[in-house]
Amino acid sequence: MISMAEYIWMDGAQPTQRLRSKTKIVPMENIENVTLEHFPEWGFDGSSTYQAQGHSSDLVLKPVCFVDDPIRGRGNFLVMCEVMNVDGTPHETNSRAKLRKTLEDGAAKEDPWFGFEQEYTLFRGRTPLGWPEDGYPAPQGPFYCGVGADEVFGRQLVEEHMQLCIDAGLMIYGINAEVMPGQWEYQVGYRGVKEESADALATSDHNWFARWLLYRIGEDHGITATLHPKPVRGDWNGAGQHTNFSTKSLRDPATGTQTMKTYLQRLENKHMDHIKVYGADLHDRLTGAHETCHINEFRSGPSDRGASIRIPIAMQKEGCGYLEDRRPGANADPYVIADRILRTICDL
Ligand code: ADP
Ligand code: MN
Ligand code: MN
Ligand code: MN
Repeated sequence: MISMAEYIWMDGAQPTQRLRSKTKIVPMENIENVTLEHFPEWGFDGSSTYQAQGHSSDLVLKPVCFVDDPIRGRGNFLVMCEVMNVDGTPHETNSRAKLRKTLEDGAAKEDPWFGFEQEYTLFRGRTPLGWPEDGYPAPQGPFYCGVGADEVFGRQLVEEHMQLCIDAGLMIYGINAEVMPGQWEYQVGYRGVKEESADALATSDHNWFARWLLYRIGEDHGITATLHPKPVRGDWNGAGQHTNFSTKSLRDPATGTQTMKTYLQRLENKHMDHIKVYGADLHDRLTGAHETCHINEFRSGPSDRGASIRIPIAMQKEGCGYLEDRRPGANADPYVIADRILRTICDL
């Protein structure tokens, strides 16, 4: 049978890389038995994606992960690709390759798991969903996890997106309406399913797939999703990408508390190195207000939503579990976030 494979990759746009994709027709002998090897490498014109100069613009798409394509349906696939140079080395914009290297350098031994809380804002034209054409909606308060046509905007798209994530086989964990009207969150990552691996590569791949699906389904609704960390200035919450992480020793009651102390110290020492790679315009969001810690400050604490690192109740009570890094912006690259966290906590 003939499959449509949507090859997805990240371009070279600065300061925030964006998604690109194109379709390859791939003959499949048996769609019940598809492996990565069935998807051949493919080329593209890097001079149109800020990844090459015109005179030698060919770059290589190397398939690294695939899931079912829930939009085109059974027998079709979404294929995540790393961008490679023609000599087979990773292109400089290939942040996934850097994360792979960090895992090989020692981080994988700690068996890290991740979970991303991806916030985003829906716009129709220049106006956030649910906002009047000019002026502002009622002040923040009733919108977070709200219900009702006067409080919640875009639920149809959000529900459709969640179902697509499930149908694709992504590790989607949940969704909620956010504090600012028109703003939403989905979570992707560890969710306690035995057969799943919530490792750094898989969870980051899944967040990129989920983003692609969000933009793609937005086309059908005439709605754009933006990951800008402060889509509306003023007394409105920004959009973040809280990143939850754990390692074997953090999850073990015998070693959890001591490991947590070590990690928190290392994270404090490297605070500014994290801030540098947690997304463009981060200073607009990390102001110290709106459930954030000021960008120049590092604070950690149990259940503290104004902290840089929040220690969840279970971690505090049971002496094991996971930690939440509340600093990354919604527009940060999950490969880069996971890479930075692992280099710091594993002292690589
Ligand atoms: P919050 O209370 O901060 O809003 P959410 O309920 O939105 O948290 O999301 C919880 C996140 O924590 C999910 O992304 C989930 O995958 C992640 N998570 C849960 N347990 C672990 C764990 N042991 N290791 C890593 N991530 C975890
Ligand atoms: Mn959340
Ligand atoms: Mn949130
Ligand atoms: Mn959170």
